[in-house]
Amino acid sequence: GFNCGIVGLPNVGKSTLFNALTKSGIAAENFPFCTIEPNSGLVAVPDPRLDELAKIVKPERTLPTSMEFVDIAGLVEGASKGEGLGNKFLANIRETQAIAHVVRCFEDENVIHVANKVDPRSDIEIINMELALADLDSVEKGIQKLARIAKGGDKEAIAQKEILERILPHLAEGQPLRSFGLTSDEQHLVRAYGFLTLKPTMYIANVSEEGFENNPYLDIVKQIATEEGAALVPVCNKIEAEIAELDDPEEKEMFLETMGLEEPGLNRVIRAGYELLGLQTYFTAGVKEVRAWTVKEGATAPEGAGVIHTDFQKGFIRAEVIAYEDFIQFQGEQGAKEAGKWRLEGKEYIIKDGDVMHYRFNV
Ligand code: GDP
Repeated sequence: GFNCGIVGLPNVGKSTLFNALTKSGIAAENFPFCTIEPNSGLVAVPDPRLDELAKIVKPERTLPTSMEFVDIAGLVEGASKGEGLGNKFLANIRETQAIAHVVRCFEDENVIHVANKVDPRSDIEIINMELALADLDSVEKGIQKLARIAKGGDKEAIAQKEILERILPHLAEGQPLRSFGLTSDEQHLVRAYGFLTLKPTMYIANVSEEGFENNPYLDIVKQIATEEGAALVPVCNKIEAEIAELDDPEEKEMFLETMGLEEPGLNRVIRAGYELLGLQTYFTAGVKEVRAWTVKEGATAPEGAGVIHTDFQKGFIRAEVIAYEDFIQFQGEQGAKEAGKWRLEGKEYIIKDGDVMHYRFNV
């Protein structure tokens, strides 16, 4: 599965965000094979296309695809020195594929700020410094280890060592590797180090109810995100927590309308996470179940089949494919067939976002 770790200083609203995300989450019985830790939750990826497909197919149930969010609490100044639980938090971050960095952009005298004042730039620098120092530690250990192997003339070791030596000063200054400008080849060469500051990152600016506009704190986060080439999602976690408390869909709808929102801000967070990871969705549309599935952009048809079941991938013969727009326009498989929009694709086929797929396979 795909996951995203939520990091940030204490008291910036991480848990509030995490709880809101997982309240709107997917019932665990739909995923019998996942073991999920208490600080992690599967979150449904909102996709209005599922409802449109269901209107045509009228299945027994519809199932969204999901993404895992992990609440990584306890990252504080000094974590990279391995003091206390510091190492454990960094290890937790290492296991995630993308990072959502929550930054406090709201004022509230009832909520203590760890540094006694709201200061997004300083907050971001503290967290980025800890992550950069953790990477620096990996780099220093790596250089030592590679020095021996490189002496023997190993070409890959020499190339790796050269990259590590080049990025060392950048990290020592507390700068994230994502702003260093490694080429994708270079990134590939050092991928085994699992650098934290190279993970796709988004800043989540936690603003007050009125803080979406004319908010100097938000502007600072925006500027930093732009400089680093990171994504930015402004959201008011307090409102999100209130929305998540509402179980009745109509009530939810009314609340959103009152707040002047089209959809919960969480949807933007989830979609941004999905985009960070380079993910896309394809559908299966049977009478039993209409369901969304997640694949990496560029995944082939057999790889997509493997998301459903490894046997589907191993025994892959062909995929029957209808583009989402065609499926809707021609009201289902029969109509799409008659309009010549139904295709049989082989194992080289690259899945497109929204494809409605039916696999043919040998068992
Ligand atoms: P964490 O330590 O980063 O996980 O922070 P929490 O989610 O536990 O939030 C810390 C405190 O800030 C709690 O009392 C929250 O109710 C409050 N809080 C979180 N988000 C907001 C917000 O958007 N506005 C306001 N005013 N308070 C918030």
